[in-house]
Amino acid sequence: MIVKDWCMYCGECAGVCPKNLILLKETDLIFDDSKCRECDICIGVCPVNALER
Ligand code: SF4
Ligand code: SF4
Repeated sequence: MIVKDWCMYCGECAGVCPKNLILLKETDLIFDDSKCRECDICIGVCPVNALER
């Protein structure tokens, strides 16, 4: 997952991942891509379109 510069670290994406693969640590988003099922829910909820797969 690519996180664009304009991410505002709101945590929306971390809250909706059905597999809890996104960890928000202050100003860092950490993805566990190995278990991602590519549902794109995280991409869909981002209010500023900061995620890309
Ligand atoms: S939902 Fe978008 S803006 Fe919010 S933390 Fe995730 S990538 Fe960043
Ligand atoms: S695409 Fe789906 S499974 Fe993968 S990180 Fe996003 S919400 Fe989680």
